[in-house]
Amino acid sequence: MMDIVQKDTTYAEINLSALQHNIKILKQHAPQSKVVAIIKANAYGHGMLKLAEQLQISQQVHALGVARLGEALQLREAGIRLPIILLEGFFNNSDLPLLAEHQLQTVIHSQDQLQGLLNSDLTEKLTIWLKLDTGMHRLGFHPSEFNRTLEILKNTKKIQQPVNFITHFNSADELDNPITTPQIQLFKTQTANQPGLCSLANSAGVLAWPEAHADMIRPGIAMYGVSPFPDKSSNELQLKPVMTLKSHLIAVRQHSVGESVGYGASWTAQENTILGVIAVGYGDGYPRMAPAGTPILVNGRIVPIVGRVSMDMITVDLGINSNDRVGDDVVLWGEGLPVELVAKHIGTVAYELVTKLTVRVPLSYCE
Ligand SMILES: *Cc1c(COP(=O)(O)O)cnc(C)c1O
Repeated sequence: MMDIVQKDTTYAEINLSALQHNIKILKQHAPQSKVVAIIKANAYGHGMLKLAEQLQISQQVHALGVARLGEALQLREAGIRLPIILLEGFFNNSDLPLLAEHQLQTVIHSQDQLQGLLNSDLTEKLTIWLKLDTGMHRLGFHPSEFNRTLEILKNTKKIQQPVNFITHFNSADELDNPITTPQIQLFKTQTANQPGLCSLANSAGVLAWPEAHADMIRPGIAMYGVSPFPDKSSNELQLKPVMTLKSHLIAVRQHSVGESVGYGASWTAQENTILGVIAVGYGDGYPRMAPAGTPILVNGRIVPIVGRVSMDMITVDLGINSNDRVGDDVVLWGEGLPVELVAKHIGTVAYELVTKLTVRVPLSYCE
């Protein structure tokens, strides 16, 4: 299935059927809602253009969401015709003609953007999403200025009517946090009786807060098969990992009690064992801060990292009974080893791990 070049190196296998499966699951949770597939940051490291193409062909989603104008322009250049929403809107007023030219929908989250839009001399009307700050306090109009802003937008000919509405939760992944329900309420109150579309839910919102589904859901991480919740596995949620980061053993070594391994000699063997060396390191995006004990899947069984992660290699303790050989398969995360679990050991989140693979790691797509 893999071509020769990728066979002996480290690569990320991207499973397109898993992507389709996860979207199906998300739709089952929110059957009344359309899907905006969030593919910012190179589709969370999964390859934005390839996934967008796939999503366009499969017709499973209604629109795409990105964080940067550059991402949207790349999509248009690649022939993606699906609606695209700029989740943070435009950063420069001088970019507005590009939005019009490429039919990019934009969030309006600030007075600066509002003024830029009102002062523009666009001839085409932009589709806009007015952002309410329900508690994240990062982007969006404060509830006290929301109605005034909405009135202004309803009375301008510069935009496509009606105005649509969007908000983003700060704690939807915390299932017992009481903060989310009043945020949903606030949004519903502020947008009541308005004709525009409403969108509130990221992945956690889709899976845990049905009241937040509304017209459009905006799943990112769950679409890639990763659980957004600290205490609920992707398996429990019936999600399948889309990315599996794979590599191979490049050395298998006898290792005696008392010997250390790697830079800084940070780990020393307590007994005789066999160590494996894997061709992956922080030069590939595997975090250097991964501590000894971080799980790695070798020939289908979990073994711990020992010693420091280096640029091109990591070492694992295969155990004294190891029969593993040079060339054997290794999974760093994905199928058989959820990236959430690896992230927890490293003290980060799965979002960061999948997003931070470097250009050295080829993406290999399979059905
Ligand atoms: C990134 C993003 C999402 C997707 O969040 P996930 O937690 O990955 O599902 C949704 N909405 C907005 C505005 C975003 O920026």
